[in-house]
Amino acid sequence: MLSMTTFDLIFMKFEIISIGNELLSGRTLNTNLQTICNILSKIGYTVSRSYVVKDDCTEISWALKQAISNDSEWIIVSGGLGPTYDDMTLSCTASTLDLNLELNEVALEMIVRRYESLVAQNIIDSFSITDSRRKMAILPKNSIPLKNNVGTAPGVLIKYESKNIVCLPGVPKEMEDIMIHQVLPLIGNDNRDKVNSKVLYIDGITESELSPIINEFLSNYDLYIKSHPKGISDGIYHIELVISYKSKKISESLINSILEKLITSIKIRNNIKIKY
Ligand code: ATP
Repeated sequence: MLSMTTFDLIFMKFEIISIGNELLSGRTLNTNLQTICNILSKIGYTVSRSYVVKDDCTEISWALKQAISNDSEWIIVSGGLGPTYDDMTLSCTASTLDLNLELNEVALEMIVRRYESLVAQNIIDSFSITDSRRKMAILPKNSIPLKNNVGTAPGVLIKYESKNIVCLPGVPKEMEDIMIHQVLPLIGNDNRDKVNSKVLYIDGITESELSPIINEFLSNYDLYIKSHPKGISDGIYHIELVISYKSKKISESLINSILEKLITSIKIRNNIKIKY
């Protein structure tokens, strides 16, 4: 697989921490990691590292310290925000960062509104704010609660030194809702250059045959090209070729003409089909 490049794709770095015993026992597939990576890569950001740890404060703290010690600006944590005793993400984050925990009135209001709406929809008859419900509003000092439109526990943004630490619920639909509706607008405010990508689906060539063609384009243009072999079927090799570029450096018309040249260079060989 090709990996050489001098092209610096990573202009804003993300690290993802997935928390949950069930992720390490194999009972639950870590789809949240894939969803978060997809959401970020679709808008041109790059995830540089991920960690999966169990519901254990020492482990959570270890992963957080690792992520903080690296150069990522954003750390996204999923899992362990719920009302039960084993949901310890926020208390462990607070102790790791040496922040006090306190009742966040905005988060409490969000939780009350959520239960009111469950009553209005006849999903529950009535509610009171019990200790376990209040627990979801006890956040590290100066946290910003992030509205959860799908479930109860709000997400949480903690600004710590130069880092943005976002804690999201583990339930995939809740995680995705907060990520898309609350976190993306915050990340999107950063106006640095974005990375775009195009994909070519190539049938009938091997990676080693593609390699010299890719090298030529890498040396001529400020691009990152990565080949992903997809196996052989009916005796034909299939490859996905991802071409990434910075939109400020390469315009849409320039990337299209580069792609045409790339396709022509590859098609000089017989029997090669390319879709994009
Ligand atoms: P709650 O306790 O309110 O359910 P939570 O934020 O505490 O929410 P968890 O208890 O960690 O979340 O997980 C809730 C559900 O989401 C579980 O069924 C769990 O398996 C699933 N889940 C947790 N993390 C992931 C993940 N990374 N990928 C996919 N599913 C996950």
